[in-house]
Amino acid sequence: MTAMDKGQWQQALLGSIEVGIVVVNKDFQVEEFNQFMENHSGVVAKDILGNSLFDFFKEIDQPWFENKCQPVFSMNTPVFVIWEQRQYLFKFGTSRPITSSSDNMYQNITILPITDDSGDVDKICILVYDMTDQAMSKARVEKLNEQLQVISRVDGLTGLYNRRYWQERFEREFKLTIRNKKPISVLMLDIDHFKAVNDTYGHQAGDKVIQSLAMLIKKATRETDICGRYGGEEFAILLPDTTTETAHIVGERIRKVSERYVVQHEGLELKFTVSVGIAEFNSKYTRPLVWLEAADQALYKAKESGRNKVIMAKP
Ligand code: GH3
Ligand code: MG
Ligand code: MG
Repeated sequence: MTAMDKGQWQQALLGSIEVGIVVVNKDFQVEEFNQFMENHSGVVAKDILGNSLFDFFKEIDQPWFENKCQPVFSMNTPVFVIWEQRQYLFKFGTSRPITSSSDNMYQNITILPITDDSGDVDKICILVYDMTDQAMSKARVEKLNEQLQVISRVDGLTGLYNRRYWQERFEREFKLTIRNKKPISVLMLDIDHFKAVNDTYGHQAGDKVIQSLAMLIKKATRETDICGRYGGEEFAILLPDTTTETAHIVGERIRKVSERYVVQHEGLELKFTVSVGIAEFNSKYTRPLVWLEAADQALYKAKESGRNKVIMAKP
């Protein structure tokens, strides 16, 4: 320490550090307020020194903060508040361009005890760390994960659930059904003579037919129904709280709208029909696949007996 005395280098340190430092006494009167705090709050040290912290920062929930500081004073222990618990103590803006989710700084707060000569805590030091970058990247990762999860569940061509996720839901509903004994039906659906569509008009035309049917299925079912693309041109629909009679109405509705629907493709008008097999849950179906097999058998019968039909399984 040649050029500066201790007081000077301490001031220099307090001024240059990228952490907010506030020292208050037992009455929460401010005794230290560093450059970081001045820069972000617009409050200058000479104005706030000697005054109550709460008079200058109305955003601080006083009873909550006093409660937090209580063990620091009485038990000489530090206390931490992280941004996940509370976004900030001091409502500071951020200068970052991509903080669309919040314009306020995310802060980690550390409250340290400061003891006097006799070892009693007579002041506390509040440290304010800017965690905005971390909070933003965590939010971005979470959003990406959410998007990934949606993508991993959805069939790219139709927007319905893919087979893997549909089966997962089917198995979950199966277990629930065994317990709550509500009616529930499953419906298997397959486009009739679809090979002919592909062979005559090409694979792209076929894809368009699949997409059109998916759209019709979405329209004909409820939000709570679980619709999936089970295979190429095969669909599976789980109808919770639905008896076989009501499921038949839904199946017929899809069959009829499909029969009437016209797919426009490169100036051509394509028509298609579907066959449907339905199985209401029955306790004889001991495993999810046995139940699904019953619907598939009904679908097979619909195909065998001429297609463009809805057939119900008899357990
Ligand atoms: P059926 O009435 O007995 O169902 O006759 P089908 O011709 O529809 O027979 P099947 O259901 O076995 O035919 C499935 C065909 O669907 C075979 C395959 O070429 C076609 N396919 C499967 N996935 C896709 C797809 O993603 N896009 C297109 N365009 N065609 C597909
Ligand atoms: Mg088919
Ligand atoms: Mg098929």
